[in-house]
Amino acid sequence: MKEPSCRVHINWENFRHNISVLMQKGHTLMPVIKADAYGHGVARAALELEKLGITWAAAGTLKEAALIRENGFSGHIVSLLCPVPEEEDVALALEKGLVPLIHSKEGLLAVKEAMQGRRQILDIAVKVDTGMGRLGFPLSAMEKVAGFLAGAENIRPVVQISHLSVADDPDEDAYTAGQCELFYSAAAIMHRSFPDMRCSLGNTAGLATLVTDSEDICRPGIALYGYDPLHGTEKEGICGNLLPVMEVSAPILSVHPLHKGESLGYGRTYKADSERLVGWVAIGYADGYRRNPAPGTCMCINGTRVPVIGRVAMQMTCVDLTELPAPPSPGDRAYVLGGPGNAVSAQEIADWWGTIPYEVTCLLGKNKTE
Ligand SMILES: *Cc1c(COP(=O)(O)O)cnc(C)c1O
Repeated sequence: MKEPSCRVHINWENFRHNISVLMQKGHTLMPVIKADAYGHGVARAALELEKLGITWAAAGTLKEAALIRENGFSGHIVSLLCPVPEEEDVALALEKGLVPLIHSKEGLLAVKEAMQGRRQILDIAVKVDTGMGRLGFPLSAMEKVAGFLAGAENIRPVVQISHLSVADDPDEDAYTAGQCELFYSAAAIMHRSFPDMRCSLGNTAGLATLVTDSEDICRPGIALYGYDPLHGTEKEGICGNLLPVMEVSAPILSVHPLHKGESLGYGRTYKADSERLVGWVAIGYADGYRRNPAPGTCMCINGTRVPVIGRVAMQMTCVDLTELPAPPSPGDRAYVLGGPGNAVSAQEIADWWGTIPYEVTCLLGKNKTE
């Protein structure tokens, strides 16, 4: 029996295309494939990066970093989401050659403790807080951090990292410039003890707007998956010609008329004011297809858009098929994201949901089966 559930298709050719577009900016890249590659599948993403000869990758947790290694990626793998590392975390990092991100005094002390008496060298990334107010050492702590690491022979800071908070907002360019200044001041301190340490500041927006040093290892995330963080600003499009990577479709369960005056769905929020043909599609909020989309939300059937009507249910959503040139049959597929024809983009869904494409692909990507 076929499962009446939604299907996620990942277009890896478009993923590769997006990377080649980003490479044209001239920076070394550390593609961000955290959170299961924003829902697209971290294992395959790791393999794709390896085939492209990419030498740095950024994961979320250390476990995810290990998965990237196990899937054949041979470069440096930075884990962006490190708690205070425990003995076993350090052991895993050493075994797999992972680069934990150390962002606090507690983290530094724990790593030193765990490295006591070991012969191997542990590569770490050092996080500086330049204005995100999230993780990292302030500039004022960097002398101490550098001194501490210089005294720890088997811990090597291979890259200094910070994160831009408003690089996607041209009105905030002065703040971004301030973050860059703090970052490179911190790097200057670190470079006195560690001249080979690399720097990594730019996210997609930072890479697109070229705000960082030319030597910066930029960490694009969202652009890999086809979306422009500068969408809706005067700088929209400067990432280049990105192509969407994720497609999500679901089977149509039922097609039937809705007569004038009849209503459908929970709350009877849709009432037919004329003869309608409606279809129920097997996707709902349990699949991450949000319950409260804005009016105007669409799906795509055989390349043509159809409006979502009524209330989105747990595993079903209704569409109005009346205007389709040829009505579909139960078993045909409706594309909620991507697909042939006048495809819906994650940016549009984000607008309908009051969010950003990042959340859309993370949510819908959880339906992957392979
Ligand atoms: C998620 C993330 C990125 C990628 O950001 P995009 O806006 O998707 O390019 C880069 N660096 C850090 C630390 C992140 O957490």
